[in-house]
Amino acid sequence: MLDSALTRLDRAATFLNVDPDVIEKLKFPKETLSVRLMIRMDDGSRRSFLAWRCRYDDTRGPTKGGIRFHPQASLDEVNTLAFWMTFKCAVMNLPYGGAKGAVQVDPRELSKAELERLSRAYVQAFASMIGPDRDIPAPDVYTNAMIMGWMADEYGSIRNEPCPAVITGKPIALGGSLGRDDATARGGYYLVKHLERELGLEGGPKRVAIQGFGNAGMHIARLLSADGYRIVAISDSRGAIHDPDGIDVAQAIAAKSAGGSVVALAGRGGIREISGDELIGVECDLLVPAALEDQIHTGNAHQVKARTVLELANGPVSADADPILAENGVVVLPDILANAGGVTVSYFEWVQNRQGYYWRQDEIHERLKTIMEAEGEKIWQLGKEHGTDLRTASYIHALSRLANAIEAHGTQKFFTA
Ligand code: GLU
Repeated sequence: MLDSALTRLDRAATFLNVDPDVIEKLKFPKETLSVRLMIRMDDGSRRSFLAWRCRYDDTRGPTKGGIRFHPQASLDEVNTLAFWMTFKCAVMNLPYGGAKGAVQVDPRELSKAELERLSRAYVQAFASMIGPDRDIPAPDVYTNAMIMGWMADEYGSIRNEPCPAVITGKPIALGGSLGRDDATARGGYYLVKHLERELGLEGGPKRVAIQGFGNAGMHIARLLSADGYRIVAISDSRGAIHDPDGIDVAQAIAAKSAGGSVVALAGRGGIREISGDELIGVECDLLVPAALEDQIHTGNAHQVKARTVLELANGPVSADADPILAENGVVVLPDILANAGGVTVSYFEWVQNRQGYYWRQDEIHERLKTIMEAEGEKIWQLGKEHGTDLRTASYIHALSRLANAIEAHGTQKFFTA
């Protein structure tokens, strides 16, 4: 996975005159720790879980990135996600490097008390790796504010003082930020709105298909439908639904929040059940992958009918599917830009924790909008300037910031000239 992700770095490097030392530094993670977490289950037995934390690169600041709980989590995936975080933070000009963590577990199989023990065990194992000036975790797939709260509490116990800035995405009552819950989707929404005319979405039909109905998928459905977009298809891990006349988002959220699946809506009105793969190819104008990696690949990329893809998930389009989408004229708003609203509001949370001064929600929305629009605009212009797709433009943008920081430490040229 990491090798494939690195091909995008190589491609961006061909557009810039960066020192080879820069590429050498960015090709490998700085440190990755693998551990086995051992916890007591409710029935008295002990069970162990593989867990990782990768700090990929810290040239631009302390490392930042979420922790995911997923049965298919792996070391390679964690390293790759940490590589993407490095570029995402550089795209947004946040003073951070990139990191990621994971536990190989299906959290739906654990009781709440077991989940708490696992979350605390994670912090105990990685306590010397994380820290408010070193590495700052956050939520990711199948982790949430409650888990971040347990983790912040555990870290505070270990350090013997409250330390809210060690982790972001916390509950508001424990120093979380207003606006963090929907920040990933909201950032993507501001980006789409800013580029609406260029993307041909202004005034035209606005049909949306959303793959994945977790935090990002649910909030983007809500934000877009409130703005007049028509949500024609939604999927979650159990299946997908389709209605060309539009799905009522409030009903979909209610079905999901009750612990069920959006598939429960099939049969209501014109809603029909379809397969997850069919969703990728439904007639729509905007396709929003908001689940996991490699969902659009060489096997299905040619089926995409949308003119625009908004990548709210990390890595939803495999590297070898990029050229297929480009040839078909599909514009991809790439993950390291499109879903960067989450880490941007995490940055706001960290700043507020350190200031001990908390901002209003409208201030947070305004600051997020300003950054999304400014970086989105630069990337749109870079794409035009270099005649390249927006993913490559985003990598060029991030790489030039990373290169400046790495070169400021001194490269071979610096020592031999
Ligand atoms: N897990 C999110 C991401 O992939 C957020 C990371 C953060 O807030 O640090 O961008």
